[in-house]
Amino acid sequence: MTVLRSRRVFLPDEVRPAAVEFHDGRITAVLPYETDGVDLGALALLPGLVDSHVHVNEPGRTEWEGFASATRAAASGGVTTLVDMPLNSIPPTVDVAALEAKRKAAAGQCHVDVGFWGGAVPGNASCLPGLHEAGVFGFKSFLIDSGVPEFPPLDAAGLDAAMRTVDALFIVHAEDPALVAESSPLYPDFVASRPPEAEARAVETVIELARRTGARAHILHLAAADALPSLAAAQRDGVRITAETCPHYLTLRAEDVPSLATEYKCCPPIRGGQHQDALWQALADGVITCVVSDHSPCTADLKAGDFATAWGGIASVQLGLPAVWTEAHRRGIPLEDVVHWMSKAPADLVGLPHKGRIEVGADADLVVFAPDETFTVDASRLHHRNPVTPYHGRTLQGVVHQTWLRGEPVDGVTPTGRLLRREAK
Ligand SMILES: [Zn+2]
Repeated sequence: MTVLRSRRVFLPDEVRPAAVEFHDGRITAVLPYETDGVDLGALALLPGLVDSHVHVNEPGRTEWEGFASATRAAASGGVTTLVDMPLNSIPPTVDVAALEAKRKAAAGQCHVDVGFWGGAVPGNASCLPGLHEAGVFGFKSFLIDSGVPEFPPLDAAGLDAAMRTVDALFIVHAEDPALVAESSPLYPDFVASRPPEAEARAVETVIELARRTGARAHILHLAAADALPSLAAAQRDGVRITAETCPHYLTLRAEDVPSLATEYKCCPPIRGGQHQDALWQALADGVITCVVSDHSPCTADLKAGDFATAWGGIASVQLGLPAVWTEAHRRGIPLEDVVHWMSKAPADLVGLPHKGRIEVGADADLVVFAPDETFTVDASRLHHRNPVTPYHGRTLQGVVHQTWLRGEPVDGVTPTGRLLRREAK
């Protein structure tokens, strides 16, 4: 039996002084602060974050990232559960054999709990029920080129067909290829080549498919304000559609990106300040429910060059919480909202009712966090395999002091993470 007590325990509905008791990896009681135990004082005690959007890239592109480095970085950033994307690894997770290859690669290496998404690509619809049965949390697809040849996009008819094969969560990279152009080397051209209308129209396509098929759909990494009205309207109509956004869209702005700073390249692109303001408002309104990293690194050489050629993806699994909290604080938004968007909300999205919350019966995944301390990001000191991130040199607010996974502190040496399967309803 262990007890951690703090004057600021982030419970599902309130923040108050309390003592959290746990045993055998599970929370057994939430008691008065005066209970005997390890006293954290004014340090906040948060539920472990759930990051449902991480590209680990192992096996096959392990030099980009891998299970050991990604999960060590996650734990250092207060993330205790991550769900790995089906692409950038080779093989991509598009059938049961590939899922088994992923699990084999991950086994014994993980410092946090890890689940897996499957992929829906042209020609694999018949594999989806079996993959779902084998435990993936749902299926990712692209409506536009994914960046890697072994994970081609679906068109609307292909996504429609996939949605009809299995009752699952379909998560979609929503940009319409008809509205996206080739980019030239500089950032302003890159942003212009992937306009907000490309997101808005693709989101409308996904809404229409979800409406028609009754499938559950989720829009990944939403960056454009233009997509929000139709999303809100569809939700009001009862269409089963949700959306996430990412730390970079909430904290970085196109007008501040240097023309050749390819560490900022991601798709959809980081847009202007008015889009950022709208994303924060959409979180407040509940139109967007989750904030997850889309941690998508590669080697430094592939990330170099210019905006026409560099890999699109931002590495931030270790930095999401302080990045988002820094901006939230500046905007007068309380930490409890940030914690909700980054823990319970993504846990609910993927169906992990014992993750991302401090309550009796939940896993004792806990984060000791100093919301008022600051630090300056040094990319070379992050646990990410490749020291490239647009947050390098930024001073962020909020320091993770310690992360607990199922009742034990994560030490970054002994991997105690488990491989998770989708929980049957
Ligand atoms: Zn991604």
